[in-house]
Amino acid sequence: MINRNRCCETVYPQEPMGSFHGYQCSKNATVERDGKKYCGIHDPVKVKARRAKNAGIAEAKYQLESSKRRIEYLGPALLAMLERILPDWEHCAIEGDDENDPVCQDRIKLRDEAKALIAKAKGEK
Ligand SMILES: [Zn+2]
Repeated sequence: MINRNRCCETVYPQEPMGSFHGYQCSKNATVERDGKKYCGIHDPVKVKARRAKNAGIAEAKYQLESSKRRIEYLGPALLAMLERILPDWEHCAIEGDDENDPVCQDRIKLRDEAKALIAKAKGEK
């Protein structure tokens, strides 16, 4: 028998083999949507918002994992590239011995940061 003050949603018991026998939600109705009463859990507006939020979280997790895999895959190549271009910066730092030249100061700073990153990536620091 349908209880008019309870949520109209049909729920299915959580059983190991699943269940095909649904029953009316046991919670009291708190909202009415299109003439039907729902509890706070089955309110279609909240259900839709919850699904959108979960989809957003799943998408964010997927993007993070993709990003991690890309960096993991490309990391060695990026490291090798940095090591290849580092001598150019060394040269600049030696040649550009004008300590007041802001371009040289930037290059020396970049070179030192690159060296530190390479050492970190190789587990040397
Ligand atoms: Zn309900």
